[in-house]
Amino acid sequence: MTTVNPIPLDISAVQTPAYILEESALKRNLAIFDRVQKESGGKIILALKGFAFWPAFPWVREVLHGATASSLHEARLAKEEMRKEVHVYSVAFTDKEFPEVLAIADHIVFNSFGQWRRFKPQVMAARAAGRYVSCGIRVNPGHSEVQTPLYDPCYANSRLGVTREEFRPDDLDGIDGFHFHAHCGNNSDTLERVVASFEKLYGEFIPRMKWINFGGGHHITKQGYDVERLIRVIKGVRERYKVEVYVEPGEAVGWRTGPLVSSVVDIVRNGMDIAILDTSATAHMPDTLEMPYRPEIREADVPGKLAHTYRLGGLTCLAGDVIGDYSFAKPLAIGDKLVFEDMIHYTIVKNTTFNGIPLPSLCMWTEQGELRVAREFGYESYKLRNG
Ligand SMILES: *Cc1c(COP(=O)(O)O)cnc(C)c1O
Repeated sequence: MTTVNPIPLDISAVQTPAYILEESALKRNLAIFDRVQKESGGKIILALKGFAFWPAFPWVREVLHGATASSLHEARLAKEEMRKEVHVYSVAFTDKEFPEVLAIADHIVFNSFGQWRRFKPQVMAARAAGRYVSCGIRVNPGHSEVQTPLYDPCYANSRLGVTREEFRPDDLDGIDGFHFHAHCGNNSDTLERVVASFEKLYGEFIPRMKWINFGGGHHITKQGYDVERLIRVIKGVRERYKVEVYVEPGEAVGWRTGPLVSSVVDIVRNGMDIAILDTSATAHMPDTLEMPYRPEIREADVPGKLAHTYRLGGLTCLAGDVIGDYSFAKPLAIGDKLVFEDMIHYTIVKNTTFNGIPLPSLCMWTEQGELRVAREFGYESYKLRNG
């Protein structure tokens, strides 16, 4: 993978560990969303769950219609920093947080009819007082092609979304929309099949709705994604039912927008060479262990391919804090910088201060070639989480 910034980033100038969001890469993704919105008439909003790097929101706001939150805190961030449409879905809203959610949301999606009935009086009171909050129900569309159960919202006995068996047409009064989320990194042919299943199960109720939200998990900015088909599917639903269509990607917004840069701190041996880095699989790139997947490292290859193979380990005491085995053309030395590609989405939002190891700083590499440090984290960020 190569950077799209016309001015190459001087890696030696980076204080590690650091995430570096590249403005030009984010804008490359946003241009694709811009085209989808213009040609399909659908609206794209950012799912903060996967990408909440708000210093970059001024760029995102230029193109997307708003943000979607899965909690009160994400909703507040959407309101404060995106300042466009605020959509909120929660697996379950608590009595304590709901009034605040209601005060800032434009759209609220409920995960069950029980939740809708519980909070409907508050919604109706807000509407009567002149603040129209549009509400929807998340349904299980009855079809998913996600292979990893951890990421499949439609596995047997899933708690996410109302199934057709539990669906209550009598409770739809006051509901404006349907939401489904059944994708994870899928292409638009999958969306086409999910929409067909959704229509088969819930089609008779769609004419009563104002909008349908297709959820996230659409890998719109990945090479090979069939954008034309996405546009066709959105247009088709909009025209068949005269509804607005929303799509809420997270990963696709932050996809390939920049690396995590780390340094080699020590090199040890135990049957093989092991390099210890000033980062961590578990604290700074947890999906390498959870998903799991193998991150790409600039100028490195699979073990044994290049002359010098190392196991790359993190700074925490977790025995399994290992990123993987990689080979390099030259032997690694203490102080060498390693560039982990595509480390912006689902990393920063999941970081922990486990073991008290420092959080990577958050930087931006602008189109003008400026390396801007948006945030550095010190001891306080560790102390505040523990007392
Ligand atoms: C996770 C999630 C998203 C974003 O998914 P991506 O895979 O990051 O595009 C959108 N909507 C809902 C309801 C989600 O749970």
